Amino acid sequence: MKLIDGKKISNELRLGIKDQVKKIKQEAGKFPCLATILVGQNPASQVYIKSKIKACQEAGIQSLHHNLDENSSKEDIISLINELNKSSEVDGILLQLPLPNNEYAQDCINAISPLKDVDGLHPFNAGLLNLSKSWDEIIKKNILVSCTPLGVIYLLHKSNISIEGKTAIVIGRSNLVGKPLSMLLLANNATVTMAHSKTKNLKEMCKNADIVIAAVGNPKFLNKDFIKDRATVIDVGINRTPDGLCGDVDFNSVKDMNITMTPVPGGVGPMTITMLLENTLKAFKKGH
Ligand code: NAP
Repeated sequence: MKLIDGKKISNELRLGIKDQVKKIKQEAGKFPCLATILVGQNPASQVYIKSKIKACQEAGIQSLHHNLDENSSKEDIISLINELNKSSEVDGILLQLPLPNNEYAQDCINAISPLKDVDGLHPFNAGLLNLSKSWDEIIKKNILVSCTPLGVIYLLHKSNISIEGKTAIVIGRSNLVGKPLSMLLLANNATVTMAHSKTKNLKEMCKNADIVIAAVGNPKFLNKDFIKDRATVIDVGINRTPDGLCGDVDFNSVKDMNITMTPVPGGVGPMTITMLLENTLKAFKKGH
């Protein structure tokens, strides 16, 4: 097995982002600024927010954090978002999900200005991604795309794994990962199958795919019976189990195969925050 080192690729990209931030400061006289919003005290969300703020600091991006009370209403959250939308100091807005009441998460996301939507979850940006005809167009137009799927495409490009003409299967159809990733693979000229919990013959479909992407949220869900020789396997899953962190792919089952794969941890995970930094730069450029 050949491993894709997400940490190394991510570190290289962050150095480039740091340079761009320096250049922006020299030319525009200000640092890009990311506003983060956490509602409540969810321990996992607190850890994620902390890492995002730390990554911003390391890249020279300013961060502005707001922690709203657990019982904040939808109106309270939208009112803060409106303030940040208006602020000329703020380039990007990140609302940490899930909310304590996640039923109105999409309403809150819809309130974020599409120009500041660094998570790429606003319908306007999701729509732009769906309308885009090629990867070049996505890059040239600085389209804000959901961070994890964007990170997966960067991992493939930086590892010199060609996507064009390949058959790819994405298992999972969430708005956060599966759907945007399928669109990105399509824009990179793969022939894409989107699989989900109602898909029949999943094993056979995976076994025929050149690129298998697991975004299921089910520990060790895929094993060697799903993967063909010389396939590329991207494990997006992050599952906390009594034995520690693991992906959606049973690593021990596939480790002796002739495949290229992302480990968990150290594969897709580090790229997500790097893409958040990248999207903050894009948002800065859009705003200026
Ligand atoms: P999600 O919203 O729960 O979506 C899971 C998807 O998997 C759904 O589309 C579901 O199908 C599908 N699924 C569930 N059981 C299945 C089965 N037996 N066969 C085929 N498909 C099945 O999860 P998500 O937000 O997309 O996240 C997926 C995983 O990625 C999680 O482990 C999450 O922690 C991880 N993640 C990692 C990062 C990172 O930075 N590395 C970022 C985000 C998410 P239905 O639609 O039919 O229910």
